[in-house]
Amino acid sequence: MLTNCLNMKKKIKAPFLSPNIKDTSFDVIVVGGGPAGMMAAGRAAEGGARVLLLEKNEKLGKKLLITGGGRCNVMNGETDVHALTKKYGKKGAFLFSPLSQFGVRDTFSFLDVHGIQTIEEEGKRIFPKTERAETIWNMCLEYMKKGKVITCVRSRVTGFSHRNGRITGVQTASGNYTGDSYILATGGKSHPETGSTGEGFTWLSKIGHTIKDSAGALVPVAVSDSWIKKAQGTSFKEAKVALIANGEKVEEQTGKILFTHFGLSGPLILNMAASIGERLKYREKISLLIDLFPKMDLGTLDRHIEKIIRENQNKKWKNVFDSIVPPKLAQTLILSTKIDGEISVNAISRDARKAVGKLLKGLSANPTHLLGLDKAVISGGGVDLREVDFKTMQSKLFPNLFLVGDVLDFDRPTGGYSLQICWTTGYVAGTHAQLLSKSIVQ
Ligand SMILES: Cc1cc2nc3c(=O)[nH]c(=O)nc-3n(C[C@H](O)[C@H](O)[C@H](O)COP(=O)(O)OP(=O)(O)OC[C@H]3O[C@@H](n4cnc5c(N)ncnc54)[C@H](O)[C@@H]3O)c2cc1C
Repeated sequence: MLTNCLNMKKKIKAPFLSPNIKDTSFDVIVVGGGPAGMMAAGRAAEGGARVLLLEKNEKLGKKLLITGGGRCNVMNGETDVHALTKKYGKKGAFLFSPLSQFGVRDTFSFLDVHGIQTIEEEGKRIFPKTERAETIWNMCLEYMKKGKVITCVRSRVTGFSHRNGRITGVQTASGNYTGDSYILATGGKSHPETGSTGEGFTWLSKIGHTIKDSAGALVPVAVSDSWIKKAQGTSFKEAKVALIANGEKVEEQTGKILFTHFGLSGPLILNMAASIGERLKYREKISLLIDLFPKMDLGTLDRHIEKIIRENQNKKWKNVFDSIVPPKLAQTLILSTKIDGEISVNAISRDARKAVGKLLKGLSANPTHLLGLDKAVISGGGVDLREVDFKTMQSKLFPNLFLVGDVLDFDRPTGGYSLQICWTTGYVAGTHAQLLSKSIVQ
């Protein structure tokens, strides 16, 4: 039994792994060793529970290691709980109770206690000062080690058994294990190469939970417009993008966008992807209206262009347009300005110049589809939140089953909000799961 614990011991030098485990029965069994599972396991163990964590990969936290481009945007620093929950849209209300037990300030303290210094970036994005996701990964391992969590890698759970409204065991290729309580932390479906393949959803739906379809939520958007693809690599720190559906503006956001070989990416686009995907799914006629100069109104932008033209008298339009927008974009957009690139800027009429400003504040792009889940930062969908008791993270169908992290159907933008859910729900589930343990004298 549990031979894979030995393998992991060799690989990551984690002395808390016991090679001599004969037991198949534990207080708490955690399935999935991502950030939510590791937090839940560490917390349950801290309360005195004998905890087993089963992870199918050869190492824990593969996705955690690639977060924030390897720098790990570990949390969001918004301490105002109302402002924070708003970021999760309507479903944010479910988070009030868990955040009251383990909120942003608690997460800061947790990092502090584990010796992690942090830096803050725009939008209250918090990163470890080392700017290495491995720092957070190590912290999770240390936390579990302290509580003597028994961690087994290469241990894929294939299903749950249940009787009389209680989970009675989990099955793996190497055997079956039983616990007083179970924490499901198998993640969503984005970046399946990290292990998040949505297996948990299959079991949950078999035992009666409602699973909302998983579509890529924070994903780049493919477009049909060649002018965007030709300008690949061009980015705008602050653009404004409006989503137009059936002729009406339905959403508008300002932020960074990036032009790529397939279309559009960057935080602003990732944050709008869920709405774009939803509308494409229902075959609505949509387009994106891109304003490259959101800080200037039309008049100000026209004066800005006029000034550049004045400073470049006698130069060709194609060379001057380069200093209004980045050169690669200028090359692909020059035709749309309807001004011959070879003419001298002196010859540009007032109306033609004004039309340039209008163009740059209202470029149209046509999304065709969202990129696949392999490119998604988080997958949308998950367990219907109404089926979870958020005071404890217990399933309302199976009270000895706890649900955490990406398994839950939360919408969230980029900025550390996903990992915040992992720390918060993991901590709360760990706290309450160990309280169900028969072997612990409370
Ligand atoms: C590229 C990228 C960058 C990101 N950057 C950030 C960021 O900077 N900040 C942020 O807040 N969020 C970020 N996220 C989102 C964040 O990584 C996730 O929200 C988070 O990892 C979810 O944690 P989790 O523990 O719920 O699930 P996961 O991290 O998906 O972990 C689930 C674990 O369960 C295991 N598992 C699955 N099925 C089984 C099974 N049958 N048996 C045993 N084990 C199983 C998997 O192998 C996996 O290890 C990013 C995501 C991606 C893809």
